[in-house]
Amino acid sequence: MNKINATPDQDQARLELAIRMLGHEARTHLITACTGFSQDRIRKLWGKRFRDSNPRTPGARRHRGKSPSSIEFFVRNPWIQADASLLAHLFANWGLLQILPDLSTPAVRVEDPVTRGQRFCDAFEEFQAISPSSPLSFEHAWNMLDALTARRELLLLDCGDCHALYVQDALALDGRRCPTCRVIPACRRG
Ligand SMILES: [Zn+2]
Repeated sequence: MNKINATPDQDQARLELAIRMLGHEARTHLITACTGFSQDRIRKLWGKRFRDSNPRTPGARRHRGKSPSSIEFFVRNPWIQADASLLAHLFANWGLLQILPDLSTPAVRVEDPVTRGQRFCDAFEEFQAISPSSPLSFEHAWNMLDALTARRELLLLDCGDCHALYVQDALALDGRRCPTCRVIPACRRG
C-alpha cells in the first residue's frame, strides 16, 4: 500500500470516512482501500470509537474474513431485489455508476479513493433512510456495485409491465417483470 501524502484537511477527511465506514461495519480491507490507513490504525480507531463506547449506544460490530461476493442474495426474493434496484439508482444518483440508454452500467471513474468512499457512504445512507429495515448491508452494497460495474454478474432490465428498471442476475431466466409487478400485478394496482 502506497502511503498517501495528505494535507491536514485531507487527513481529517480520511479519518471521518474511516469512522463512518466503521459505523457501517465495513471490513478493514475496504476501509484501507478508501483511506490508505493501516489495518493497525483502523483496529485502534475502532477500539477507541466503538468498542469502548457507552453500552447504551450499541457499538458497531467488526466482521472478519472475506467480504460477501455472492450475487444470489440480491435476487433471493422480490423484496431484496426491489431494495437492490433502489440502491442501483442511488449509485447512479451519487455518481458511482452510469445507467446508459442500453441499460449497461459502467462505473464512473473516481480517481480519489476518499471521494469514492464518501459518495458510497452517501448512497448507502440514503438507501438506509428510505429502506431502514432492509437486510442489505454496507458490505452487500459494496459487492453489488462491483457486480454491476466490473464483474457484470448483475444487470439492469426494464419491466415489460411498468417499465421500471430492476436488478437481475445476469444468468437468470427472466420474465421481464420487476419485483413490484411480480408481487402486485399491474392490473391490481389502480
Ligand atoms: Zn414492473
